[in-house]
Amino acid sequence: MLSRKIPLGEAPSHVIPTYASRGLSGPVPRLELPEQGMEPAVAYQLIHDELALDANPALNLATFVTTYMDPAADDLMAETMNKNAIDWDEYPQTVALQDRCVNMLSRLFNSAEAHDADAVGTATVGSSEAIHLAGLAMKFRWRAARRSGGLPCDRPNLVMGGNVQVCWEKFARYFDVEPRYVPLTPSRFVIGVSEAMALVDENTIGVVGILGSTYTGEYEPIADLCAALDALCDARGWDVPVHVDAASGGFVAPFLQPELLWDFRLPRVHSINVSGHKYGLVYPGVGWVIWRSAADLPQELIFEVDYLGGSHANFGLNFSRGASQIVGQYYNFVRLGRDGYKQIMMALAETAHWLAAALAQLPGVDVVAAGDDLPVVCFRLADDIGFDVFALSDRLRLRGWVVPAYRMAADAESVAVLRVVVREGLSRDMAECLLADMTEAVHHLMTTTTMTATAAAATATASTAVPVAAAGRVPVAKSEPKTKAVC
Ligand SMILES: *Cc1c(COP(=O)(O)O)cnc(C)c1O
Repeated sequence: MLSRKIPLGEAPSHVIPTYASRGLSGPVPRLELPEQGMEPAVAYQLIHDELALDANPALNLATFVTTYMDPAADDLMAETMNKNAIDWDEYPQTVALQDRCVNMLSRLFNSAEAHDADAVGTATVGSSEAIHLAGLAMKFRWRAARRSGGLPCDRPNLVMGGNVQVCWEKFARYFDVEPRYVPLTPSRFVIGVSEAMALVDENTIGVVGILGSTYTGEYEPIADLCAALDALCDARGWDVPVHVDAASGGFVAPFLQPELLWDFRLPRVHSINVSGHKYGLVYPGVGWVIWRSAADLPQELIFEVDYLGGSHANFGLNFSRGASQIVGQYYNFVRLGRDGYKQIMMALAETAHWLAAALAQLPGVDVVAAGDDLPVVCFRLADDIGFDVFALSDRLRLRGWVVPAYRMAADAESVAVLRVVVREGLSRDMAECLLADMTEAVHHLMTTTTMTATAAAATATASTAVPVAAAGRVPVAKSEPKTKAVC
């Protein structure tokens, strides 16, 4: 028998069962860099086990971000994990793939000017970096125009719906731009055109239109925003550009609603961002920003960097970054083509429609968005159902499903919803499993909250018996609502 006096680490390795080895039988290093390391297999097991506490990505219906890629893409991305995309001289072919992606996206978004010239745009870490770059371009362009007119340029503002993703709030704060939010209403969850126009003035660097609100998946009325800005330009002379935040919709609308005018076909749209890691179907770590033309990207934002033996134009907040996501994006483009993306998006939309219709049959469920724009299903619960969306979200979590519950943005906070993002990986079969669990959860909560209400009524009225129906149902305690939709 192994004496406990002999430290496990010194015992001959063949007699140490995996979980009795030093790394796994004691506490793990949490705060201090440990003096000594451990065997790779032990470190692997340790971390692997801890990560099992995370949600299962395949059941995470909160995220828009890709959790499944082809096995061939997995191979390709693993092969390129050790390349830094910024080493242009060393990895010129990686740069070439990035440029091809920028050109393909620019053409997908109908940039007329891309057809005879290289498209203007860059890969980013995600839509957030893309949005910061697009925001800076708008700010610099506005400032240059003001300066050339001899006008003050110290109070730029940006007009957008209260439903913008948090990265827009960050952009405004980090880069000193006054955010002007169009308030939502309990029945309008996206920007209102006339409400937006009321906030525009000579200091407005741009208006944001979202192609696929993170809250409900609805598309904002981009063409209407552009038309209203055209009219404002005629009336007041304010030539305000539109940036389209197409983080999700940029890979959905071109395939499902090709007639919808939202992109560079609208002359007022100057720049577009899209997340490669959302419906672009790449694992997290890639986004894109595309400008209509070189004139929309002020030269002063571009750095000529001399690095490792070459000089290259660079525009980005980041420097080093992994090459594999860019490679994964190009893989998807050539592997799927327009046709492949279209088939996938059609399948997702079909699943979303099916799920929305099925959920609408459940008692007390009111579908807010049925997957008509993004393949996203968003629903609320009747006020008198006796429990709230947060309780339903918690109950679904018992089965491993992550279906976030949250309140709408400013001035529509009275509306709380649940949202299912239908992504590649959520097959019809899995959607049926989700529906079965959702049905069970709704019935369970209805029964238990009715029982609680009955018991509460019985205690409250000691003398007269209160009929169950009259007691009604009391809402269960609300868990802390999240303020932002997860994405
Ligand atoms: C996800 C999302 C973002 C942020 O994008 P990341 O790629 O996660 O940085 C911005 N806007 C919208 C509309 C989004 O859905």
